[in-house]
Amino acid sequence: FKDFKVKNEPILEYLKGSKERKELEAALKNVASNCEDVPIVIGDEEIRTKEVKYQVMPHDHQHKIAKFYYATPEVVQKAIKVASEARIEWDKVPLEDRIDMWMRAADLMATKYRMALNAATMLGQSKTVVQAEIDSAAELIDFFRFNAFFAKELLKYDPISENPSVTRNSMRYRGLEGFIAAVAPFNFTAIGGNLSYTPALMGNGVLFKPSDTAVLSCFTIFKVMKEVGIPPGVVNFIPCDGPVFGDTITNSPLLAGINFTGSVPTFLRLWTQVGQKIAKYRNFPRLIGECGGKNYHFIHKSADVESVVNGTIRSAFEYCGQKCSACSRMYVPRSLWPSIKEQLLELRNKLKVGPPTEYDSFMSAVIDDKAFERIRGYIDHAKNMSGNKVIGGGQYDNRQGYFVQPTIVEVSDPRDRLMTEEIFGPILSVYVYEDGAVEEAMSLVKESTPFGLTGAVFAQDQKFLEYAAENLKMTAGNFYLNDKSTGSVVGQQPFGGGRHSGTNDKAGGPHYVLRWTSPQAIKETF
Ligand code: GLU
Repeated sequence: FKDFKVKNEPILEYLKGSKERKELEAALKNVASNCEDVPIVIGDEEIRTKEVKYQVMPHDHQHKIAKFYYATPEVVQKAIKVASEARIEWDKVPLEDRIDMWMRAADLMATKYRMALNAATMLGQSKTVVQAEIDSAAELIDFFRFNAFFAKELLKYDPISENPSVTRNSMRYRGLEGFIAAVAPFNFTAIGGNLSYTPALMGNGVLFKPSDTAVLSCFTIFKVMKEVGIPPGVVNFIPCDGPVFGDTITNSPLLAGINFTGSVPTFLRLWTQVGQKIAKYRNFPRLIGECGGKNYHFIHKSADVESVVNGTIRSAFEYCGQKCSACSRMYVPRSLWPSIKEQLLELRNKLKVGPPTEYDSFMSAVIDDKAFERIRGYIDHAKNMSGNKVIGGGQYDNRQGYFVQPTIVEVSDPRDRLMTEEIFGPILSVYVYEDGAVEEAMSLVKESTPFGLTGAVFAQDQKFLEYAAENLKMTAGNFYLNDKSTGSVVGQQPFGGGRHSGTNDKAGGPHYVLRWTSPQAIKETF
């Protein structure tokens, strides 16, 4: 599209003494002092089952901020029925009206609900204020506005009518028959909003399953949508045990699609279940998945060291490396390693790890006990496996919160687990290659992992950049030249990758909304 009628939401700064800071402080206090009761919501009915769960603050894990309930298989089945029925009337609502609703919701998220969304994300998912503002304010709002805009543009498309007074051809964008299951991750509140409400925008009925560790922020989105008048039953809020949810939705003949962000094993499991039952479904379900990566920074000998160091520290350690796009492996030429290493360590040593409520914290705790143990396993492996050198960090402490220090490991074997497996934590693995062996190093980038999400090449040599862009073409759905591998912006760098990183349907791009329609071509003869 040439003329964007929407703009990216600007980031607020929360300077000391500012009005924003005061409002955020009040919202934080509100979240911290209430343990909000979050029901399952199906249609206009609130349901509380016997299986009670709590969301805690990862940086202070004895502190509960939400009480919620797991849906049983029967409850999920009920939601399937309600969503599949509600979508029939919803699909008749003109798209323009739905778009208006989405734009109003975005405005509410930018104003009245901004602080509540940020506070829930900061305390519930341990995001610093900057990371929360990027996510539960800017990106969430952008998803609503840009997808509404992209949907509107679609309306303008009609197929060719050669002689319109005799035959008129048109296209009707229907929602999918049945229901969509949106399975959301903890790491971006915005992704929860996009996975569930973009299919809804296009006329679908949705089961929104938030992550257990992001229930409160996801429920806040749900409240906003209620306030703008989305009919009950169009989106249903279903916290649930993962396998129970997966088994129940894939057993329903009405499953029309799964919109998933999470781990590769979970996506494989869902896909396998769908495959096994494929003949049962009324429609072939659409499976859209974004499942992580082993993202790289590849450094050429001509690279600018300062931008390498700044970009790598941010990509590897912001939000504790818990972005699907985080840099997790770096390839550095021997000639640049002494200066890169020195500056990486200097910057690393300045990073403050602390509660997200302290405005100078660079990063906070990792999400939960399971993540802490997994990451600890990789750090212990780094310490115990000969050939690996922990050159920075390596400490962890889960007494109060799940804290892991930003860790840098120099590995001697480029096929070590640290260089090939997704860690999803604050560990940067570095392999130093001989300047003359740049081809071999690039082969490792291409072949040593099953992923293809994000990647970055740093070089001042233009010829090399062009060569690398071609040579590494299939290694990343989001590819950066002289910039870090994280921080994609809705509408600017549509996000997603191939190989085992996902189906690359590009969240935040113009084509994404098309995945949630079943277009009907109509020929009308006069
Ligand atoms: N879009 C985000 C980024 O580029 C990452 C999304 C994710 O973690 O899934 O940083």
